[in-house]
Amino acid sequence: MSAVPTSLAAEFRGRFGADADGIWSAPGRVNLIGEHTDYNAGFALPFAIPARAFVAVRATESGEAVLASTFAGAGSVRVRLDELGPEDPGFSGDGGWARYLAGVVWAFARRGITLPGIEVLLHSDVPVGAGLSSSAAVECAVAVAVNDLAGAGLDRSELVQICHEAENDFVGAPTGILDQSASLLASAGSGLFLDCLDRSTRQVPLDLEARSLVLLVIDTRVTHAHESGGYRDRVASCRLGERVLGVGSLREVTARDFAERAHLLDPETLRRVRHIVTENARVQDVVSLLDAGRLEDIGPLLTASHVSMRDDYEISSPELDVAVDTALDAGALGARMTGGGFGGSAIALVPAALAESVSARITAAFEDAGWVPPHIYSVVPAAGAGR
Ligand code: ADP
Ligand code: MG
Repeated sequence: MSAVPTSLAAEFRGRFGADADGIWSAPGRVNLIGEHTDYNAGFALPFAIPARAFVAVRATESGEAVLASTFAGAGSVRVRLDELGPEDPGFSGDGGWARYLAGVVWAFARRGITLPGIEVLLHSDVPVGAGLSSSAAVECAVAVAVNDLAGAGLDRSELVQICHEAENDFVGAPTGILDQSASLLASAGSGLFLDCLDRSTRQVPLDLEARSLVLLVIDTRVTHAHESGGYRDRVASCRLGERVLGVGSLREVTARDFAERAHLLDPETLRRVRHIVTENARVQDVVSLLDAGRLEDIGPLLTASHVSMRDDYEISSPELDVAVDTALDAGALGARMTGGGFGGSAIALVPAALAESVSARITAAFEDAGWVPPHIYSVVPAAGAGR
């Protein structure tokens, strides 16, 4: 876990003229496998990473939410709580980031859980738009804070739902429950096997060190935003696939159903649906291998997932492809882009002895292509959100 920035409590006092009631935090995540399956009621296997979002929070009587972030360029946003809504002019222009925080307060209020006033200072070391879910880290940190301060006692699965509503209904990003589940439910040393149909979860052993393996994150530093664009189109393709195949969700489509009925789909929708169907199978195969203690054997499934995202779901980028291909060429056991795509990060499962040479090769490949050098670092499964 990254250290709580020692200055956060002091900075809160400086800005708000009073002590925070506490500091809460929630992690970003890496998705080991299971991409774009969450909004299709499918399977995923994320884990929490050491990088976290921290919030210093004070309950007040002011009738307002005052939201501030140490994030470059983010000032502070002040909105009235009795008329809190996504259209509040406080969120227009530079204040858009504050919707991720206010949306959580709003989703609690929908359930009749309110604070008379709230002040929040956010500091996050989860990089934005890097495919590591800085947005869920922020939402989940605020959610555990409000849950404690309001004495609401909601369980973690209800907090997942609250953060999901904040991101979908308040921010307007049509994302699934993967990120929030990882941030709130993951635990150190494990992957979180998530079934998005009934939202059940199970911790799966993921002890990289015991196998002398390293999981590298290769942040291409090409950022994306999920409120718009390609992500939304992919969701729409899946909904079209459901209608044509006559299913409630693509989770219901087995490999066999797909083979029999794929001809009903137009070529693009066919590719999109094929990614979801094959990705669900790959997640289950990875979980079986991990349950059997065969972590070193999951590499080919990670790589197959990347190929599916590159060719069928078409959410990769030249930078992600070079990162993956170079990692494999340099001795990685498997590699794939992770997160929503269109930029962000790739991951590579690498024998510890090769971590440095793999990293150097990828950096050199980016240099040859004339791109900004990637940020490359290793991660281990870290703890979920907490005070
Ligand atoms: P990611 O893959 O990182 O989650 P998103 O587009 O889903 O990318 O969310 C990124 C958005 O979350 C940012 O544009 C910003 O609005 C908000 N955000 C994340 N971290 C911070 C922060 N430290 N301060 C303010 N806003 C943040
Ligand atoms: Mg996000």
